[in-house]
Formats: sequence, C-alpha cells, structure tokens
Amino acid sequence: MKRIFILVLFICGCVSQTKKELSPEFEKWAAIKSPTLGEPASIGTYQAGCIDGAQSLPLEGPGFYVVNRQRLRYFGHPSMMAYLLDLGQKIKQKKYPMMAVEDISYPRGGPFLTGHNSHQIGLDVDISLTPLKSAPQDDANVPAPSYVRERKELLTNWGKEQAQLVELAAQSDLVNRIFVAPAIKKFFCSTQPTAPWLYKIRPWWGHDDHIHVRLNCPASSPECVNQPALDPAENNCGAQLDWWYSAEADAEAKKMADEPATVPKSFPVLPAKCENIKVQK
Ligand SMILES: [Zn+2]
Repeated sequence: MKRIFILVLFICGCVSQTKKELSPEFEKWAAIKSPTLGEPASIGTYQAGCIDGAQSLPLEGPGFYVVNRQRLRYFGHPSMMAYLLDLGQKIKQKKYPMMAVEDISYPRGGPFLTGHNSHQIGLDVDISLTPLKSAPQDDANVPAPSYVRERKELLTNWGKEQAQLVELAAQSDLVNRIFVAPAIKKFFCSTQPTAPWLYKIRPWWGHDDHIHVRLNCPASSPECVNQPALDPAENNCGAQLDWWYSAEADAEAKKMADEPATVPKSFPVLPAKCENIKVQK
C-alpha cells in the first residue's frame, strides 16, 4: 500500500511544502514578470515544465475574480483561459456567486517558490470553495475557510454553493481531473453516484478550502506530457475512496504532519527548452 501512496504522490505532485534553503532557481522563475511571445505551448509535465506564449487571465470578468494577484500566478495556456472564461459565463448564467480564481501558473510557468509542486505548465488552476458575492476590498486577503474536518468529514459550512461549483467545474471535456478533499468525493459518491463527471473527482490531501482543476494537454502542445485519462466507467467510490478512511491513511497523515521542515524542497529537472524560455527577453 505504501507503494500506492508514493505513486499517487507522484501523480498529483500537489502536496504543499515550505522548506528551507531553496535552490536559487526557484527565485529566477518567480521573478519573471512577463510571458514569452512564442506560440502557446505547454512543455513537460505538470510537476516539471514551463510554458511558451502564456496568456494572462483578465483580473475579473463575468462570473470570476482573480485573488492573490500580487503573486502573478494568473498565466496559463489558452486552453486554460478558454476553460475559465467559459466556466465564469456558466456561473453568471446560473446566477451563482463569482468564483475566486487562485493560482494558475507564473508568466512562463516553472516551479513555484512556495506551495504546490505542480501548476508548472499553465494547465492547473486552484479555485476557492468560497465564492464571492462582490469584488473584495483586498485581493490578497480574501477569506478561504476550510469546509472539511481532517480530510474525512464535511463541516457545517459546506452547502449548495460549494457543490454547484464542483459540479459545474467538472463538466468540461477539457478537464483531466479535479483534486478535492476525500470528504468532498464522499459527498458526491452518496448524493450523485451516477453523475457522468464523478470519475474525474479525485480525493487528495489538503484541498479542503479550494479545488484544483487539471486540464488535459492541448493537442497543439506536442511536448506536453499528459497525465493518463481516468476511466469514465469507474467512479472510484469504493476501495479507492475507502483508503482515505483507513488506519494506513491516518498513519501517512501523521507522518506528514510530523515531518521536520528542514529538508530543502528540491528543484525539478525541467525540459531543456525551458532554460531558453526562462532567459528570453
Ligand atoms: Zn493546486
């Protein structure tokens, strides 16, 4: 079972780390302020890659609002922009409150200095589970409460607005998978077990205040390494979900919580082309 855990860790690559003595390479990617002017292309894997010709998401538009703008993580592949603009339109049409868009990627992708290990090729986005009734006073300090107790149970603040957002976000064919806390997967397994999009909803550590949507590699990005598609015939409401409620998962959670924050986060090996993308004027 340990092997399974390591495998899923590799697949998601989205466990947050705040470790000391980071490689100076992290700072270089974080310091880039503009995308390249190349043809849009995602290069490499979700956990080790970059993006050529990224687009910027408008900071607000129908049905959405970008938060934490000072991080400059609102760049991505045009496929991501199309996905978010379309989702925003649907949210507006249904008269749901605005979605708060958190991190996508840096202007040229690459590893984040802080937070998740993925989001490197402009095809991952975090969307808050707390929708906005109106534009916030302070973009950098928008409340994002947890909706889940210790990954297993929904809190009483979970409601229709959260469920509607996940459901709508999962329906696009562009979506490869969506990471959520196990309690959220469990909720949909019991309320909508036959929903055609349920197979894309994947339990993961964290993700109790936001969802993480991963899009498929676009056909126009031949150097993008897709994560294998999930099987639509398997909703994974059985043994796979049960694991998250096992003693083994409890032990893994404890191990992660106890891990000392002294090991430097290692810098991934990026495709050679990313070096050129990093230094282009
Ligand atoms: Zn994420």
